[in-house]
Amino acid sequence: MTLIDLGATRPRSLRRADVDDATWNDWRWQLRNRVDDPAAFERLLTLTADERAGLAAAPGLFRVGVTPYYLDLIDRENPFCPVRMQIVPTIHETRQARGELLDPLGEDAASPAPGLTHRYPDRVLMLALNRCAIYCRHCNRRRMVGHEDHSIAKDDLEQALEYLRGNKRVKDVLISGGDPLTLADDKLEWVLSEVRKIPHIDIIRIGTRVPVCLPMRVDHDLARMLAKYHPLYINTHFNHPKEITPEARRACGILADAGIPLGNQAVLLRRVNSSVRVLRRLLRELLKMRVRPYYLFLGDPAFGTDHLRTPVGKGIELIEAIRGHMSGMAVPHLVIDAPGGGGKIPIGPQYVMAWGADRLVLRNFEGKLVTYHEPEQRDCSVPYDEVFFAGEPGDDVDDEARGVAALFEDT
Ligand code: SF4
Repeated sequence: MTLIDLGATRPRSLRRADVDDATWNDWRWQLRNRVDDPAAFERLLTLTADERAGLAAAPGLFRVGVTPYYLDLIDRENPFCPVRMQIVPTIHETRQARGELLDPLGEDAASPAPGLTHRYPDRVLMLALNRCAIYCRHCNRRRMVGHEDHSIAKDDLEQALEYLRGNKRVKDVLISGGDPLTLADDKLEWVLSEVRKIPHIDIIRIGTRVPVCLPMRVDHDLARMLAKYHPLYINTHFNHPKEITPEARRACGILADAGIPLGNQAVLLRRVNSSVRVLRRLLRELLKMRVRPYYLFLGDPAFGTDHLRTPVGKGIELIEAIRGHMSGMAVPHLVIDAPGGGGKIPIGPQYVMAWGADRLVLRNFEGKLVTYHEPEQRDCSVPYDEVFFAGEPGDDVDDEARGVAALFEDT
């Protein structure tokens, strides 16, 4: 089912200065007028040879599309503009580098129902549609969001919901990209209300780039609707402080005022945000608009994204330059999402320099060594657990702990 009539006549100009406020702030107009064909990019930007070749190679290989709003943030002359590098393809995307996969996280193999990925015991990923407001050059789901826009069929969503209803271990549902906030309020509310009706689901999370690339979509009606389904969390995806505009601040403010905790999942993109200066500014600006930095991902090895992936050592170096220099609240978890579905693996600088029987030698952010004495008493069992959890079935925490212990015994 086509969601928006993309065949509508294009206006003569998509520049902010040439469009009246009411039209510009209409999110449906923004979606209808996404720029997606090479001729339009050619008219709007001074393209490099690599970009021109990337745009020519795109049809059938990967999706291109950008809202007039996000396009307006682009430096039209500079190919290193961090906004431009996220949406204008280059010829490098046609090459498959070592280790790159179409489905780098093995999501398709862990799918028990259409649009559902169930990899971790207590949480699932649910895709409600395959449309995004923009198509990011680093996307790890480009195989799914690379085709014509459509909602996931209602029958398929019903199958996914049926799976959730029957699976009591699932406590947390992440509804993500395609971008769920590009659905109309009533369609999104149907999905949220069906998930919320399931008694064992504690938390609903939404993953969205809408505050970044279509902030006019966020209004008080949407926020009021979302707030009906608390506890509901939103994780967004700002990668560069250039994306933090007055419109983006307003969108995040409306969501935060509705009591929705906001987090940010950035991707560390080579030559886009792979500098200390950029990251510090990004993290500071996020906190200022009540968005808590959550993850900083090393790029997934998705087909055609090698040129945007940052070496692991650089990622560690950048975190080292942030931790201790900024509030702990600003420091995201640096993670690699393990290829093939191994889950998120945190990595970072080494601060434990030596670990003896009764003391550790630690290094602080200034490189100063300090000694930390272990406590003399080591029994960490919690006697009150038996009282507090009386009558509850045991969970699998102990089994998991035993599993980890066994791993070490074997080595
Ligand atoms: S918004 Fe998210 S899912 Fe959509 S193209 Fe960008 S990274 Fe991929």
